[in-house]
Amino acid sequence: MSELECSRAGCRNAATARVVWRNPRIHAVDREKIWLACSEHVDFLRDYLAARDFPVTVRDGVPS
Ligand SMILES: [Zn+2]
Repeated sequence: MSELECSRAGCRNAATARVVWRNPRIHAVDREKIWLACSEHVDFLRDYLAARDFPVTVRDGVPS
């Protein structure tokens, strides 16, 4: 089984967290989009979404 990779463009690190978000303009309230993030990029990805006023939460761990 291969490790899940970070969603950051160009990053091949193993993901350690899930960045859960949605775009309120196009997604229903119960819709969840998930980006996987390595420990290095979890803040970058969260801030990227937060800067667009998207609801975003970070959860430790990745889907097994
Ligand atoms: Zn990364």
